[in-house]
Amino acid sequence: MRSTIQPPDYKIAIIGSGPSGCFLAEILALKRPDLQIDIYERLPHPFGLAVSGVAPDHLHTRKVTEQFARTLARDNVNLICNTEVGSSISYSELKQRYDRVVFATGASEDRRLGIPGEHLPGIYGSGRFTRWYNNHPESSQFTPLIGQRVAIIGNGNVALDIARVLAKTAAEHQTSALSEPVRTHLAKNHIREIHILGRRGPADASFSVAELTELSTLAQAESILHQPYWME
Ligand SMILES: Cc1cc2nc3c(=O)[nH]c(=O)nc-3n(C[C@H](O)[C@H](O)[C@H](O)COP(=O)(O)OP(=O)(O)OC[C@H]3O[C@@H](n4cnc5c(N)ncnc54)[C@H](O)[C@@H]3O)c2cc1C
Repeated sequence: MRSTIQPPDYKIAIIGSGPSGCFLAEILALKRPDLQIDIYERLPHPFGLAVSGVAPDHLHTRKVTEQFARTLARDNVNLICNTEVGSSISYSELKQRYDRVVFATGASEDRRLGIPGEHLPGIYGSGRFTRWYNNHPESSQFTPLIGQRVAIIGNGNVALDIARVLAKTAAEHQTSALSEPVRTHLAKNHIREIHILGRRGPADASFSVAELTELSTLAQAESILHQPYWME
């Protein structure tokens, strides 16, 4: 005798439509087609830092959003934009409506270093700065002070992204996803020197080789490696 009992329709809410939320939705949709998956996103558009972090001249990396778009097009996956959990809708409301609630909200705040002067004009966390050149909706009122000599603190790929975006010429940026105001602001600052500062030596830097090599291919930028001051 066939059972008339249907498998339960589970409903899952995922908060955040960045890579974590989209990869999770994809796996769940594949493994459990009976699930209804609703993804809540506070911004007007999905994909999180895959579009507003990943550098505007690395369009090949941003192509991962094409894969995420296929996930969002699945019948049992639903994207709800302009909805911030915590203000537009509360966690307790979600808990009543869904069987499971998963937070995939990323890291939206720059970490403070707690050093004197970090609140002064012209000093920005990398998140704020990269959101500006990536046209993040929450950066529309912000234009950074740049000037001709820029210091970037930190020895990771985000430092290299920023250095490269600042060092590229307008011609090199022709294929980048930069808005016109960002292009104009970069050009009018006539940046001459970019210093990347790390607290340890080159062996401890966490650059990836491809990103570091890319710096040596720029049209009008020369890379100079200084010895750590204690070795001079
Ligand atoms: C400058 C920069 C460059 C990078 N370059 C690369 C790269 O080249 N290659 C690479 O692999 N990785 C890169 N990364 C890392 C990559 O972007 C992150 O690892 C990845 O985006 C993290 O995904 P996530 O989904 O956890 O968070 P996020 O991408 O931050 O997504 C979180 C989402 O949640 C939403 N959200 C937050 N709070 C709420 C709320 N309360 N309600 C509803 N929605 C909410 C946010 O709006 C956002 O859309 C870079 C990161 C940065 C900052």
